[in-house]
Parts: sequence; C-alpha cells; structure tokens
Amino acid sequence: MRKYLLPERGNFYKTNLHTHSNLSDGGLSPEEIKEYYISHGYSVICYTDHDVFIPHNDLTDEHFLVLNGYELEVNQPAAAISHITGNGKTCHMCLVATEPDMETPVCWHREKYIPLKSQPHKDKVKNDPNEPDYIRTYSHEGVSDMMRLGRENGFFVTYNHPTWSCEDYSDYVGYENMHAIEIMNYTCICAGYPEYNERVYDDMLRAGKRIFCTGTDDGHGKGGMCGCYIMVKAEALEYRAVAGAIMRGDFYSSEGPEIKALYIEDGKVTVETSEAKEIRFTTGIRKCKRFAGKDGESVTTATYELSTDKDPYYFRVTVTDENGKHAYTNAYFTDELK
Ligand SMILES: [Zn+2]
Ligand SMILES: [Zn+2]
Repeated sequence: MRKYLLPERGNFYKTNLHTHSNLSDGGLSPEEIKEYYISHGYSVICYTDHDVFIPHNDLTDEHFLVLNGYELEVNQPAAAISHITGNGKTCHMCLVATEPDMETPVCWHREKYIPLKSQPHKDKVKNDPNEPDYIRTYSHEGVSDMMRLGRENGFFVTYNHPTWSCEDYSDYVGYENMHAIEIMNYTCICAGYPEYNERVYDDMLRAGKRIFCTGTDDGHGKGGMCGCYIMVKAEALEYRAVAGAIMRGDFYSSEGPEIKALYIEDGKVTVETSEAKEIRFTTGIRKCKRFAGKDGESVTTATYELSTDKDPYYFRVTVTDENGKHAYTNAYFTDELK
C-alpha cells in the first residue's frame, strides 16, 4: 500500500520561519516585510525578533498568515573561548508559537540578553511578573534546558545557523529537545558562510536525534530575503493547521526546486520533483544513491529501494537543479513507517 510521506491532501504554503523586523535589528517594519514576501509568493511568515516575543496576529488576513516567535541566543563565556582561534561560539534558536494566543516568552530575563536594538520594544513583551529571571548557560545542559522550556511551553524549536555560530560536532551533539535544525540559512549564505548544513543534519540523526530540517532566510531587510524557505503542506491557511503541519514535519526545505510528491510503497521510496540535475537519497548507514539524467538531461522522479539486508535507519532526499539550488526533505525513520 502506498503511504504518502508528504500528505497527499492539502496545499503547499511557502513559509519563512526566521525573520527580523525593525523591532530588533531588521531594517523593515513588520508591515513592509509582509508586503515584500507576499509579492514573492509567500503565504506564511514567522517574525522572530531577537529576544522580544511580540505577536503580530493583526497582520494575518485571508491570504497571509503570521506565526509568532522570537530568536534566543546564549554565548560562550570569555573564559571558555579557544586559545587557538580566539573566537567565541554562540548558540541561537528560534521559538515558533504553535498557538495564536501564546504571548508569554520563556528563558526571559528582565535586564540581561536583550540586544540594544530590541531594547526600545521590550515593554511590549508580556512576561509573567511572577516568573523569576532566567539565567542562560552556554553548555549542553544549558542549551538543552532552553530548548526544553520552549518545547514544553508549546513552541516549535529550531537550532539556527550552526556554521555561522562556529559550533561543531562536540557542541551540537549534546543539544537535546530541538524540533529542527536549519539546513540552510540564506542571510548566512549571502554573507559568505557555507551555511548548507547537510552533514550537521546527518550527524544529529545518526546520534539518535529525530529532528526535522528547515531552510530559512533570517532576513534583516537588507538583502537575505526570499532565498531559503519551507513548503508546508497543510489543509488550510490557518494558524493551527499550519503550525500543526510544521510540528508533524509535513514540509520540505528549498531554495528553488520543487518536491511535488514523496511516498513509500512496497519498500520503495519515490520522489517527484521539478526538473533536477540530480536527486540523492541519503540514509543512516553507509548506503546512498544518486540519480541523474544521461548527457546532462534533467530528471523529475526517482525511486530508491530501501535495503532489504540491512535496515537503513532513516532516509532523506536532496534535489539539486541545474543552477545548483537545493531542496531537502526531512528524514524519515524506517521503524516509524512499519
Ligand atoms: Zn541567529
Ligand atoms: Zn536571526
């Protein structure tokens, strides 16, 4: 029987989960951002200003949905900085509210952590006055605790731009409780960072983390917009329908190529795409496969037979078009498909 990995029903909504407005260090107002993204075919934006959780439900209309969120960071203390590079690491995460009426931040501190450009807006944040100030710690436990608080309070938690943050395996392998990692971050790519984190994603998956991957802009209104996004397949352009689809992993990431269908049937995984130069299947073991047309011709579909002698643990698909643009599916675990 055919099982659809991206739902057969519903519509794809072009979505950016990571956006900065002039309520932090972005150059455009939330209204200007909405206008710009609508003119580029987007249906959903999550505003994630630095450390100020300010809902923008008023910008939602029939054709455009706002998800609410914010971006948090915790920095390596000076004493722990490498004597080799002298470079401090940092960990950033976006918290995306899964319900439209959520308005109380987690990991909030009344004085610390709020960046200069977010300061004028901190009074708009509805923090719980009974909640003690939260102290952030840059460590496996500290980051995992922030992610736990996000997750337990109804946020979708993404681990952002590990390349820009100078984090490596020894750092991210110890981070628990995230829902997804940014496999692409357009602003970092525009700035010259190789922020294609396919290897980081496989590292995390093989370390036992069952997480999704997202492509985001992280735009600040000065370029870095409308480059990387997720295509969410949901039943309706409504907050709970779209947030629910994101929580279930009903999306793929892209910077151009389309993934039209993805399904498994009799142990064979089939993907249908827009015209691609190559389609790659990656698994959790030392087994993968590349499909490409003969003599440079494009391909639009590929079928990969899951190993019958050894369980591949998971599989995921990467699509690359002739311009070198990528699309990535989430990983699918074989034991969850039985
Ligand atoms: Zn960041
Ligand atoms: Zn950001």
